[in-house]
Amino acid sequence: MRSKNKPAPTVAEAAYIAHVAKLPCSVCDEGGGEGSPSEVHEIEQGNWWLSIALCGGCHRGPINGLHGQRQMWKLKKLDEQGALAITIRRVFLAARGA
Ligand SMILES: [Zn+2]
Ligand SMILES: [Zn+2]
Repeated sequence: MRSKNKPAPTVAEAAYIAHVAKLPCSVCDEGGGEGSPSEVHEIEQGNWWLSIALCGGCHRGPINGLHGQRQMWKLKKLDEQGALAITIRRVFLAARGA
C-alpha cells in the first residue's frame, strides 16, 4: 500500500520488493515463498533498499508486531537493524544459489 507523498518504486526497486516478499519472516521465520509471501517493511519510508521481510503478525500484529507491542521482536532479541541484517543475509544467500 502506498501513501500519496511516497514515490512509486522504480523497476529495480519493485523487483527487489518482490524478491524480499518471497523470503520468510526475518523475525519468526514463518512464511515466504509463492504460497504465503511476506509483507515488506521499510526501515525508512520510501527507501526500499532498507526492506525487511515480515509476516503479518511480526509486522502489524498488536501484540507481536513491529507496529504494536513487539513481543516477538523482544523474544527474538531483534530490532529493525537486526531483522534487516537477516533479510540482507537471505537476499545474498538466495543470489548465490545457496
Ligand atoms: Zn513473523
Ligand atoms: Zn511496516
